[in-house]
Amino acid sequence: LASFWRAISTQAAEALKTQPSQLFIDGKFVDAASGKKFDVLDPTNSLYSPAVKAARRAFDKGEWPRMSGKQRGQIMYRLAELIDRHAEELAHIESLDNGKPVFMSKVADIPLSAEHFSRCLGAGLHACLLVGVLACSPCSSVPPSFSLCKYFAGWADKLHGKTIPTDSAFGKFFAYTLHEPIGVVGQIIPWNFPLLMLAWKVAPALAAGNCVVLKPAEQTPLNALRFAQLCNEAGIPPGTVNILPGFGPTAGGAICDHPGVDKLAFTGSTEIGKLIMAAGAKRVVPVSLELGGKSPLIVDKNVDVDKAVEDTHFALFFNHGQCCAAGSRTFVHADIYDEFVEKAAKRAAQRKVGDPFTDVEQGPQVDEDQLKKILGYIDIAQREGARLLTGGKQHGQKGYFVEPTVFADVTDEMTIAQEEIFGPVQSILKYHTTEEVIERANNNVYGLASGIISNDVNFINTVSRSLKAGTVWVNCYNVYDHAVPFGGYKMSGIGRDKGEYALEHYTQTKAVYQALEPNQP
Ligand code: NAD
Repeated sequence: LASFWRAISTQAAEALKTQPSQLFIDGKFVDAASGKKFDVLDPTNSLYSPAVKAARRAFDKGEWPRMSGKQRGQIMYRLAELIDRHAEELAHIESLDNGKPVFMSKVADIPLSAEHFSRCLGAGLHACLLVGVLACSPCSSVPPSFSLCKYFAGWADKLHGKTIPTDSAFGKFFAYTLHEPIGVVGQIIPWNFPLLMLAWKVAPALAAGNCVVLKPAEQTPLNALRFAQLCNEAGIPPGTVNILPGFGPTAGGAICDHPGVDKLAFTGSTEIGKLIMAAGAKRVVPVSLELGGKSPLIVDKNVDVDKAVEDTHFALFFNHGQCCAAGSRTFVHADIYDEFVEKAAKRAAQRKVGDPFTDVEQGPQVDEDQLKKILGYIDIAQREGARLLTGGKQHGQKGYFVEPTVFADVTDEMTIAQEEIFGPVQSILKYHTTEEVIERANNNVYGLASGIISNDVNFINTVSRSLKAGTVWVNCYNVYDHAVPFGGYKMSGIGRDKGEYALEHYTQTKAVYQALEPNQP
């Protein structure tokens, strides 16, 4: 049998020499219009194994886990500095790959990514995200100042354990803990914030001394590869960071099942998250998951309706609705419902949609699959009786643009109130009492994020403590500070990205007991 397989393999190797690898159109092989190519996996002899092998070698014998935290931190600072220096170029690549307006890549995706390695922002962006007016010009001119406080680079030399008093009948012992890196970490990320999702995963893993094999989404691999070049330039030792563009079941599956991978970290849909968890369970490796959401945003009665409309608009339409935390269930108190609904529709109808390299608020959705999925949900919503106020169709004939769409009179059992649309479709639901809205907001399989717009401190306290969600934004939305943890309750995930909490996924605790002489104090 072995010789049979070898013969096939030799034949296959021979055949590969003349194997066409382009598109076949009109009788000819031609390059893809994008010029892009991707690898095809040989499942018997995984092409992805060399990456895990390299990471294994880098972890088991290489410098990264063995250098001091201070040295690691210094290299990570250099990496952040390089991301800053190339911010303009990275922003353009991000918009080209993903379709998001380039100003948004410039003010959000790229600086927030650099900030994760070392904090580099002025207050402008945070203020900007806080008020939800991303188009404001001051933030696009905020110079990335590298000298502000550092974040994950700063953590690299602060990962220390504890000394613990012991009391044993068997003698005197001195006990302490070490926080050690886990090893080779397999990370799989989505396409909605390609570089930022990479930063959320890679920065804490590196700070703790791990080596990484990361698969970007097949739709958006470009900046991950550019990032790899910057890692080399920053002096990250070979094998420490490995980037494997490829498809989910093949490249992603190979990472999940590889015996050389010690931990899995995933951001993406709940459906795929379950597969990742099952793969981790087979080998008993730890799994952290950042998954989908259907986040409630609750608007109280005594609020400035114009501001609430703007805030809820931003909460849903930011990044074309392609946010795991999108405020995709807008609950509005009955007292202001009619006025709110009318104004929300007007605001969405004014939203500027078009070429992401021009002055627009919204570019195309990431690909045709997403376009079809979103239009499918719009169709279902109409059939289930939601009231379409604006939008509802593809925008234009070319590209994957969707008209900003608003539905009113959405009820809890409707599909668009239950499932993640991941597109520019706002669903407005009416409520009457605090108890009712808390129960309805929690009545969902997800628990990623949530929001409250109110001037009543008792309402805010009651609701924020009752919502089953990993984040509650009060009178703001989509605020993401690198130091604040982010993650989900229920089927929105396991564990937290960002902040000190993220480091827990990338370290393990070793307890060391050391015997003392009986007469030692
Ligand atoms: P997805 O689950 O389809 O894909 C995510 C990644 O998983 C991609 O890299 C994909 O190639 C890979 N993948 C797919 N099948 C796989 C398999 N069988 N084995 C291993 N890997 C596989 O999600 P998406 O469409 O890219 O992203 C959108 C989803 O991500 C939404 O549900 C969104 O809510 C979620 N998301 C969550 C967060 C968060 O922090 N909670 C952040 C961003 C996005």
